[in-house]
Amino acid sequence: MPNEIGQETLERLIRDYRPYTKQGAVAAYIPELAYANPHALGIAAAGADGSILKAGDADTSFTLQSISKIITLMVALNDCGPERVFSKVGMEPSVDPFNSIVKLETLDHKKPLNPMINAGAIVIASLLSGGGSVDARLQHLCDTVSRITGRSSIRFNEKVYESERRTGDRNRALAYFMKSTGIIDSDVDVEKTLDLYFKACSLEVDCVDLAKIGLFFALWGKCVESQTDGTCSTKEIVTPEIAQIVTTIMITSGMYNHSGEFFLKVGLPAKSGVSGGIVAFSPNRYGFGLFGPAIDAAGNSVAGVKMLEELSRSHRLHLVSPH
Ligand code: GLN
Repeated sequence: MPNEIGQETLERLIRDYRPYTKQGAVAAYIPELAYANPHALGIAAAGADGSILKAGDADTSFTLQSISKIITLMVALNDCGPERVFSKVGMEPSVDPFNSIVKLETLDHKKPLNPMINAGAIVIASLLSGGGSVDARLQHLCDTVSRITGRSSIRFNEKVYESERRTGDRNRALAYFMKSTGIIDSDVDVEKTLDLYFKACSLEVDCVDLAKIGLFFALWGKCVESQTDGTCSTKEIVTPEIAQIVTTIMITSGMYNHSGEFFLKVGLPAKSGVSGGIVAFSPNRYGFGLFGPAIDAAGNSVAGVKMLEELSRSHRLHLVSPH
């Protein structure tokens, strides 16, 4: 039976792995993200019993960026069904960077490879952005994140959103290209879709929120709610089948074009964002939220990945294990 994770474990991880923050760099292609402290490092672990442990800069707020893609995918699966979603986006991992455009023209079906690359997430946003205002759609996403994290409100960071909107020409190119090939439906307003995508990427969280999101997937679509008598109960937000699809896509594509190496070394479902956040989880047991804005070439937090490698090793969390 794996060891329980304790406060000392998390403190030690922060101490031992902070030096690795020097090996990455903050994302600067979204100018507002460049203001993050490259040496910040935080971790939180949420247990199935409702316990929360945290260490380092776990209270620092940051934007979800690509981590929002697991939320939009889940909401789209719930609202539109898997058949419609996967008629627009594939299920295969990508060896190209997250913002690559190349396969959209060379693949026969023209579909983005998976929902975790930008093109795939923009298509998902196009499914969500029809009918109703962008703000109403965003509110639906915020409400979902609020229920999972138990936070009364989740907001988007206006500065990060503006910064990304101003400089988001590559995403704009992906979206208009996909409209030209019919992957984005002809009646979709591409600017509205992009607005929803940029705002979803700009939703603000901290490590504890991410740990709770991880735990929610670890519990197959249920969130843990604390009761007034000190006990906990769980509440289903999406079906286990939807949670299973999102989990599987996280394993195959959650860490972009480093998903294979990450799964080999860590062996947990995970999703990262260019702000330096990572959500990961151990099914039925723990959710983890990490933050370290110094990222590598693939867009993953360098120290965050290292901490997960160590945590998986020390606590035998790898899903493919002879033990
Ligand atoms: N908002 C970012 C973008 O569209 C998200 C990418 C990421 O986190 N990898 O480029």
